[in-house]
Amino acid sequence: MTGEFDLIRRFFSRPTPHAVLGVGDDCALLQPTMGTLLAVSTDTLVAGVHFFADADPDLLGWKSLAVNLSDLAAMGAMPRWVTLALTIPGLDEAWLAAYAEGLYRCAAQHGISLVGGDTTRGGLSITLTVIGEVPVDGALRRDQARAGDTVWVSGCLGDAAFALAAMQGEVQLDDAELETLSARLHAPMPRVALGMALRQAAHGAIDISDGMLADLGHILARSGVGAVLDYDRLPVSDIVQRQAAHPLFDRCVLAGGDDYELCFTAPPDAEPAIQAIGERLGLRLTAIGSIRAAAGLQLLDARGQDMPVAITGYEHFGAR
Ligand code: ADP
Ligand code: MG
Repeated sequence: MTGEFDLIRRFFSRPTPHAVLGVGDDCALLQPTMGTLLAVSTDTLVAGVHFFADADPDLLGWKSLAVNLSDLAAMGAMPRWVTLALTIPGLDEAWLAAYAEGLYRCAAQHGISLVGGDTTRGGLSITLTVIGEVPVDGALRRDQARAGDTVWVSGCLGDAAFALAAMQGEVQLDDAELETLSARLHAPMPRVALGMALRQAAHGAIDISDGMLADLGHILARSGVGAVLDYDRLPVSDIVQRQAAHPLFDRCVLAGGDDYELCFTAPPDAEPAIQAIGERLGLRLTAIGSIRAAAGLQLLDARGQDMPVAITGYEHFGAR
């Protein structure tokens, strides 16, 4: 791409305090911390699939990094370095400046350095690879849930899905409600501090990107266990609670994507430690059920009766 070097220099060459060598050479040079494992994750966002092509580039900059940081959070890893493979249709300086601004704002807030990448011309597509560090034996893996564990979830469920439903005209929200829920959809807050704090207390963890049931389902499958959840304990915001009678309510809360909260399991005696973490971080942490040895996911209503779990999460290549 003509002007590629100029573009990289102008928009993607801010200081990289945590790298031995950052943007500009054939490779970045990184010094891992003794006693840690590297946690590496890649996510691609494609225009028209994961975001609207005319999406606010500043928010896109934030979100494209935030969803990757959410994977580090779900592993209990500390964010360290990120690379950016950017495919853009043309050299739109205003777009690039705003995208970089959002990306670097999220990076600064989470102490991660952009150390390299690639820039090509084509349909708008954004791929980030994040690298974090986690103490040996400290990672929160999906295969570590055990029968008897309590199932926890951070924050609230369904905010992002209701924001999307409102944008598509399927739900009526007032302006203040829409603004609050839209922020949850467009500027998710990765639960990095929570993931790191849970290293000692939790067994298995995952971030909720495809919907709570689907993502908890990954923990259950990988750990070879099942779960019983109490429908009444699922945490929802006041705004979503006001939509309790809406036909989309269950789908948004149980299977809505894009919340980027953490779902994790921990032994029952870890409850005081987990409550203390929630208070320290000012983050709602809710026990929603428990892990059992028998496979499957059972949802109980307020009277302890079985509820059908027909709703599954979003799958890119599967049926909804
Ligand atoms: P090469 O041809 O060796 O792959 P490039 O011309 O692709 O090098 O990139 C030059 C330098 O700029 C490299 O250090 C690379 O990591 C960095 N870089 C390229 N694109 C980006 C980007 N979008 N964001 C951050 N760094 C980038
Ligand atoms: Mg290159």
